[in-house]
Amino acid sequence: MNKRIYGVILAGGQGTRMGNSEKPKQFLVIAGKPVIIHTLEKFIVFSEFTEIIVLVPRPWIAYTRDIIKQYVPDEKHIAIIEGGKTRNETIMNAIEYIDNQEQLDDETLIITHDSVRPFVTYRIIEENIKYAGECGACDTVIPASDTIVESVDGSYISSIPERRMMYQGQTPQSFRAKRLRELYESLTTEEKDILTDACKIYVLKNEPVHLVEGEVSNIKITYPHDLRVAEAILGGNGQC
Ligand code: C5P
Repeated sequence: MNKRIYGVILAGGQGTRMGNSEKPKQFLVIAGKPVIIHTLEKFIVFSEFTEIIVLVPRPWIAYTRDIIKQYVPDEKHIAIIEGGKTRNETIMNAIEYIDNQEQLDDETLIITHDSVRPFVTYRIIEENIKYAGECGACDTVIPASDTIVESVDGSYISSIPERRMMYQGQTPQSFRAKRLRELYESLTTEEKDILTDACKIYVLKNEPVHLVEGEVSNIKITYPHDLRVAEAILGGNGQC
């Protein structure tokens, strides 16, 4: 049987750092389309995906369905479901959905991607599919351009790691879904609480995560300034 691969678009957050916008940042419009639609358009061209799962806060499910109908010509392979309280819980909801469809086996892959990174490239998605299949887990990163300074107390430097070994994490992050869930469930509540990153689950459990080369342009739209950068990248004509 063919390996099942799911695109998982993470849009379960409320985007509080965007200030007092009336919508979560994934629904704000750049170059004439909501951010989440730009992102989805990068995924729908891949025939490898069994389905693309879009996870949003419950009050936004109907709205998401409407905009996807409006902008995506063939929306049959897209499922819209509720996200979780944390980003990792959102990923777990996607895995549970796949399991409930009786589609989850040891080889089932999920390519998880921030809905607010619309500039992901086809090459990055392809390499995520390849390395998740070969290695079980992979993360998209770029070499750190700034020196990374660690401060435990927020007032004084505690360490400055060697820059040539530092990378900035982007997405997609891709996994064998069943293994990711097993590892997540084996964490303590405290470990789960401090996790901001799905790949860290593997790191905590000493399991390998392959690197995929990201792009400087694969920005995450987080602050109002990022929206202006995104508009500039798209050149206002909806292309990128
Ligand atoms: O908050 P942050 O910018 O790290 O969010 C990255 C992505 O994770 C966003 O696309 C956001 O919607 C998603 N997310 C989620 N479920 C949450 C929190 C964040 O899918 N509970």
